[in-house]
Amino acid sequence: MKFRPVPDYHMHTPRCNHACGTIREYAEAAVAAGLTEIGMSDHSPMPGGFDAAWRMHRNELDDYLREAEACRDAFAGQLTLRIGLEADYHPGSEAYVADMIAAYDWDYVIGSVHYIGDWGFDNPDTLDEWDKRNIDDAYVDYFRLVAESAATGMFDIIGHPDLIKKFGHRPSEEGDRVLAAQQQMLAAVQQSGAALEISSAGLRKPVGEIYPHPDIVAEAARLGIPFAYGSDAHSPTEVGHGMDACLSLLHEHGIRHIAAFRQRQRQMLAFCND
Ligand SMILES: [Zn+2]
Ligand SMILES: [Zn+2]
Repeated sequence: MKFRPVPDYHMHTPRCNHACGTIREYAEAAVAAGLTEIGMSDHSPMPGGFDAAWRMHRNELDDYLREAEACRDAFAGQLTLRIGLEADYHPGSEAYVADMIAAYDWDYVIGSVHYIGDWGFDNPDTLDEWDKRNIDDAYVDYFRLVAESAATGMFDIIGHPDLIKKFGHRPSEEGDRVLAAQQQMLAAVQQSGAALEISSAGLRKPVGEIYPHPDIVAEAARLGIPFAYGSDAHSPTEVGHGMDACLSLLHEHGIRHIAAFRQRQRQMLAFCND
C-alpha cells in the first residue's frame, strides 16, 4: 500500500436485505486487510415505506446497535469500530431522519440520495426508466437533491456524491446546466461543513469509476471540502476495496488528509508524509 490505511466508513449488514456478513466478519476482514479503523453504516430505516425492501426496519435498529457495540468492545485495542448509519435524503422525511439521528450517539451519519422522486435510479431493476429520461435532467435533479441533503445540516458525510453515473449514463457535452448544478451542490456541501465521500463502489459498477469524478474532486479540493473514504462494502470481501486508488486520486489533487469521526466530531488524519 502506497498510503497509510484510512478509516473505511461505509459498510452494510444483512439487515438491509442486500448485503452479507456479520459485523464481526467485517471487522475480521478489516484487520486482515491491515485497516485500523472502520465504521458500520447500514441503510437506515425510512418513513412511509420508502424503499422498505432494501433497508432495516425501525424495529431492527436496536439489534444493529447492540451487535455493533458488542463488536466494537470485542475488537478494542485491535481495531477501532465506529457506529454510523447511511440515511437517505428524500424530501419529506427530514423530521423522521432528524429524530433517528438524535435518538442515538452516532459516530457519524452518511446522507445519500438514491431516489429522484419515486425513481430509484441506481436500482438495476428500474434501468429501463433511463430510456424515458433526459440524462441532463436526471443529473440536474440528482445534484439538486444532493445539495438539499447537505443544506439540511443533518449529515456528516455526503455519500457517493455522483452516484447518478452508476450505469455509465453521461450528461451531454454542452451540459452547462449540469455543471452549474454540480457547482451548486459543491457550494452547499462546503457551506454545510460536511465531508464528501470518496467511494470505491463505482469501480465495481458498470461506470467503472471512483465516486466522485476527478473534476468534482478537483473543485472540492479548491473549495477546501474535506473527504471521507468509503468502500460501500456489501460483503466483508469488499472492506477497504480500492482504498489506494481513492487516496491516489485525492493525492493528485493536492489532498493529504482524510476525515475521521467520533461522536460526530471530525478530525483530519494525514494519509501520507509528503
Ligand atoms: Zn446498499
Ligand atoms: Zn448508497
